[in-house]
Amino acid sequence: MSTGMNGQDSRNIFNSNSKIQPMHDESVIIKINSIYYNRSVSDGPGIRTVVYLQGCTHYCDGCHNLTTWDPDHGQDYNIQELARELQENTFNKKITISGGEPFFQKEAVIALVKELKDCDLCLYTGSNLDEVPEEILPYLHYIKVGKYKKELRCTTIPFIGSSNQTFINLKEGQ
Ligand code: SF4
Repeated sequence: MSTGMNGQDSRNIFNSNSKIQPMHDESVIIKINSIYYNRSVSDGPGIRTVVYLQGCTHYCDGCHNLTTWDPDHGQDYNIQELARELQENTFNKKITISGGEPFFQKEAVIALVKELKDCDLCLYTGSNLDEVPEEILPYLHYIKVGKYKKELRCTTIPFIGSSNQTFINLKEGQ
């Protein structure tokens, strides 16, 4: 899920550094567009690794992640191996799951966050908060919700792309 553009976006860099071999076991796969290690400062607090999942049906006008839309593109990866590689290569355990729309692969993304339970996780979705599966929330530190709306483009509020979107600290107050 792209924020659209917030002035700090570097999402046009789609260079996966993954060394994992694609898998074809339907029970353990997740389809990935790209991974961007240890360089983003616009996808949640701190320096973060961002993993972009494949597939999106929100079709936001002004989306800058067009290559994520087609569910037939991207590569299938073993979830456990992907989680291990993300943890090994993310120096501070700060990982953002984006896309695309992560919940286009709902079961797979829930399985992935469970594998990454020791990390500081942020998730970007175009869905609204009441559409997010409740079982995923305990595994997340942050969530950004809402579709990107070009006419509401916002460059002054951190971690969102348009003013209708909300960036939520799910651990605040705990
Ligand atoms: S949710 Fe909207 S901005 Fe994000 S990838 Fe899909 S179409 Fe693009």
